[in-house]
Amino acid sequence: MRSFDHVNAGSIREAVELLGRHPGKAALMAGGTDLLTVLKDDILPAYPELVINLKTIPGLDTVEEDDKGLRIGAMARLAEIAASPPVRGGYGILAEAAASVGTPALRNMGTIGGNLCQDVRCWYYRYPHRMGGRMICRRKGKGPCFVLKGDSRYSAVLGAGTCFAVCPSDTATALAALDARVRVTGPRGDRSVPVRDLYGSHGITLEPGELVTEVLVPAPPEGARQGYLKFTEREPVDFAVASVAAVVLVVDGRCAGASIVLGGVAPFPYRARAAEERLEGRLLGPEDAREAAEAALREARPRGMNRYKVTVARELVRRALKGDG
Ligand SMILES: Cc1cc2nc3c(=O)[nH]c(=O)nc-3n(C[C@H](O)[C@H](O)[C@H](O)COP(=O)(O)OP(=O)(O)OC[C@H]3O[C@@H](n4cnc5c(N)ncnc54)[C@H](O)[C@@H]3O)c2cc1C
Repeated sequence: MRSFDHVNAGSIREAVELLGRHPGKAALMAGGTDLLTVLKDDILPAYPELVINLKTIPGLDTVEEDDKGLRIGAMARLAEIAASPPVRGGYGILAEAAASVGTPALRNMGTIGGNLCQDVRCWYYRYPHRMGGRMICRRKGKGPCFVLKGDSRYSAVLGAGTCFAVCPSDTATALAALDARVRVTGPRGDRSVPVRDLYGSHGITLEPGELVTEVLVPAPPEGARQGYLKFTEREPVDFAVASVAAVVLVVDGRCAGASIVLGGVAPFPYRARAAEERLEGRLLGPEDAREAAEAALREARPRGMNRYKVTVARELVRRALKGDG
């Protein structure tokens, strides 16, 4: 690993000031489980001169519930979120998504802020510099997307533009289905961003100098059913080949509103609006689940090697809606 300066930030304000004093040359570190690999493998042409440790900022790791919903500090660990009684009680898909991340060691170090902001896992993008030179691709600013002529088995089947890397974050899928927002602080003050808008076709949409400070999850409506399913190639530690987070409000046995989000298949958590519309007013029988699952993947544009992802994602949606995952 190349050398860098390291500063323990004492407050959010100090972290923002440090980012401002080192424009484009400072990196935030939460648990460090992703950042340190990115630095060790030297995958990016720009290397930070300063790493700002967020773990030393007091009060950023709380998980609290009030009558509006959940407030989760950006530095709350995934293990704590997965085990938290209020999260498990009312926001089960978030607890399941957090519990599905990596290994116990990763969940004990990894934070919700870091999980949302982690870099993509595309193996061309992540190619280590020491093994013959990093690969400069479209996502790094120039060059092609190597997936187009290469191995596309883990790449996006929905919503991709010029980069086919998928959003790797499990918690983003669940939080998007729960209609959560993140509070972001930067040189121009605070703003609130829906998790659904936190990702663009080339990654996280934070402005330079901004950091995520909090995740706000509204309480799901009374009577809402939730389901989270994740398919991985390797058990028990792996990123999602595809996943689905669903929140369905049932009134008098019929669907009165649904939020269905797919993970692992697009550069962002993919909202399956066609499936949501298909369910409206339905009884949620097996045929409704099958038709909604078909609708969810209707826009899919697989490449040669990733057609199986469409089949997997469709089946996950069907099972999540039938409640037999
Ligand atoms: C073997 C392995 C398996 C894994 N499996 C999964 C999996 O199944 N599902 C999954 O979702 N992830 C998985 N991961 C990724 C892992 O979850 C992330 O590495 C971890 O959640 C990142 O959290 P962190 O706190 O360590 O972030 P860090 O590594 O500290 O940071 C990650 C990135 O986010 C930025 N960042 C951190 N905090 C903030 C903030 N508050 N505001 C703005 N930017 C910030 C950092 O600058 C950095 O770019 C896996 C990783 C490994 C190594």
